[in-house]
Amino acid sequence: MNTGIIYHPDYLKHTMAGHPENAERLLAIMETLEREGMLEATRSIAPRQAKIEEIEYVHSAHYIVRVKSLCERGGGYLDPDTYVLPSSFEIALLAAGGVLAAADAVIEGKVRNALALVRPPGHHALGDRGMGFCIFNNIAIAAKYAQKKYGLKKVLIIDWDVHHGNGTQDIFYCDPSVLFVSFHQYPHYPGTGDSDETGKGDGKGFTLNFPLSWGSEAKDFLRIFNDVLIPRVKSFSPEIVFISAGFDAHIDDPLNNLRLTASDFSQFTDIVKKIAESSAEGRIISVLEGGYNLGYLPQCVLAHLNSLLS
Ligand SMILES: [Zn+2]
Repeated sequence: MNTGIIYHPDYLKHTMAGHPENAERLLAIMETLEREGMLEATRSIAPRQAKIEEIEYVHSAHYIVRVKSLCERGGGYLDPDTYVLPSSFEIALLAAGGVLAAADAVIEGKVRNALALVRPPGHHALGDRGMGFCIFNNIAIAAKYAQKKYGLKKVLIIDWDVHHGNGTQDIFYCDPSVLFVSFHQYPHYPGTGDSDETGKGDGKGFTLNFPLSWGSEAKDFLRIFNDVLIPRVKSFSPEIVFISAGFDAHIDDPLNNLRLTASDFSQFTDIVKKIAESSAEGRIISVLEGGYNLGYLPQCVLAHLNSLLS
């Protein structure tokens, strides 16, 4: 089987009724994938808890202790949007470790690509601060892990969540070994992601932001992919490709204003597959980020997964 799926029922335990980032999201995705026969068509990969030293690849020891002790004290908020429960520390370790398990399976050649259906999401988490529903930056930890454990030198991260992946950008802002690319509505939460944010020092030119105005649609994404991204990525020549796969740029999302459909995500996935095939032996690790409307979210994940599989 070419495609792995990472999931664990414990991901449902971090939840809060009435909060947009709740367990119903993942439950709805899994029900749809099961109904559509996708669980038989893919290889199930068990997550593990990330080790503290792996979380420390991108997060400060001080921040990790802060999260752990907040959970031990019964939970609370890392910022006004970001809740933690007593069990959230362990679940966040399992989310990060889920992406590490995906990396192992893909890099060791057990599967060609993998979709990590993990919660809580990660792309807003900064090195020393959780925010925007994110506790640990799952994708950034896995990118570092791929470099440290397997010696991969060049990592591409494509973030098509409707919100700017500020945490991932910040973590790799001075690092030329990680090309970070973000498509996002702008101006919008979290406020960063203007096109003049391109990296710093040795990392200058290795952050690419594509801010999109209200109402942008697939053709705007495709123009960027074809005219800017594909040529840039060709010269970078990544050895592995990660996708921060948020689906909140869908036209039916009640809180955001881009106009994508489920089949657009399928089209983007096909392009990323071509990118990965040209220099990275097809290796793609896609990681769930946002997407909050249960009407469209499972359909988008299904379309994305179908493209990964084909
Ligand atoms: Zn988002």
